[in-house]
Amino acid sequence: MSENMKPIRGWLYLDVSDVKKHLLLIEDIYGMCANCKHLGISYIKEKKCPNCNTEFKYLTSSLKKDAEIAQIAGRIKRENLSLVLIDKNDYDRAGAKDSIHDLFKQK
Ligand SMILES: [Zn+2]
Repeated sequence: MSENMKPIRGWLYLDVSDVKKHLLLIEDIYGMCANCKHLGISYIKEKKCPNCNTEFKYLTSSLKKDAEIAQIAGRIKRENLSLVLIDKNDYDRAGAKDSIHDLFKQK
């Protein structure tokens, strides 16, 4: 990787339902398929969920420190993985907004 390549966070507009369907939720290396809740999936090795066969397009981590998230971003770059690393708080907030909307819809 060139020395000029640094992790810089950006803002994306994403379809939350698409994210939910193609998301791998990890701690450090291993995580859970957000679509079927299958556990123990490595984001480095698995491009698809071994259980429900969904393709992973997005990755998010429950790690809190920016330095730890940056390490994951570095790994994605080094391994040349086609995963978009998204912010867990943003994802949670987007999901929460959806469920509030759903609540109103039911009334
Ligand atoms: Zn799955």
